[in-house]
Amino acid sequence: MPNSTQTTARILDGKAIAKEIQKELKVDVTKFTKETGIVPKLAAVLVGEDPASQVYVRNKQLACERVGMLSELHRLPSDTTTETLLGWVQRLNADSATSGILVQLPVPKQIEELRVLDAIDWRKDVDAFHPYNVGLLSQGRPRFLPCTPYGVVQILYRSQLPTSGKKVCVIGRSDIVGKPLASMLVQRTSPLGPEWANATVTICHSRTPNLADVTRDADILVAAIGQPEFVRAAMVKPGATVIDVGINRVGDRLVGDVAFAEVAQVAGAITPVPGGVGPLTVTMLLSNTMIAARLQLEQN
Ligand code: NDP
Repeated sequence: MPNSTQTTARILDGKAIAKEIQKELKVDVTKFTKETGIVPKLAAVLVGEDPASQVYVRNKQLACERVGMLSELHRLPSDTTTETLLGWVQRLNADSATSGILVQLPVPKQIEELRVLDAIDWRKDVDAFHPYNVGLLSQGRPRFLPCTPYGVVQILYRSQLPTSGKKVCVIGRSDIVGKPLASMLVQRTSPLGPEWANATVTICHSRTPNLADVTRDADILVAAIGQPEFVRAAMVKPGATVIDVGINRVGDRLVGDVAFAEVAQVAGAITPVPGGVGPLTVTMLLSNTMIAARLQLEQN
């Protein structure tokens, strides 16, 4: 946890929230397995040797075990071709014991990432990257919600910080975080109820002029930029909730996209890095694997 001795903001403890959800999920998984004889299984495919990706995949596997799910890791060499990876995806699509499929990103440059993600059966698409799942979300009838954005909304929900009627500013327009989060928050309702939807959302990016003017207007500010300590105190409205999605390695430290120590003096509530959004991302992946196992049962 960052040094919080001078903090005035309420710290939103993502680790504790993730633990609480995993506890609930374990009960669900146990009940499901007892009733159906099926143990939900997450299959992860990791291409290459990227150290951060190896850590992420390992954490996902450990989390599966904690809630009583099975996990399987397929390691492929860094010179794997798109066709070979597509072959793996097709085998996992066809495997009735696999509930969810995850291709750990980023994949090496020679691989056509979108072709691979599009090939994952949408019923096993636990990252919610498939265009079909993105479309369902955009129409307000999601089957899977993308893990990091849903993690952000879970933090707000479990901290009793509603989004309805609030001005939310999201800095970042990636397909993984910024856009799907905005898409969730503008809907009329959410799986957590209408209080955690119905926001007035502004998405900012590197071409946004006068960024600080926009961010200072937000009741809830989400930073998903990928630049260490980019958000400074002067960019934050006093009392606002600040959610830091960023994970940046600076030397041997993990640092968010928000300058925690100074922003915590101004904000009403803030997530730390580490221990904020990160643990929720993994947890929502497990939640999606549970949904996938149910979905496949319905369709068989
Ligand atoms: P991307 O690099 O895909 O997107 C970054 C976004 O930030 C882009 O839209 C970019 O704008 C915008 N941006 C960059 N510089 C500026 C700037 N100076 N002013 C305004 N906007 C800017 O990143 P991701 O969305 O994938 O990830 C964002 C961060 O979140 C990273 O630190 C990543 O590690 C972390 N992350 C954390 C997760 C977790 O579980 N906690 C999960 C996923 C990501 P433009 O589009 O114009 O280039």
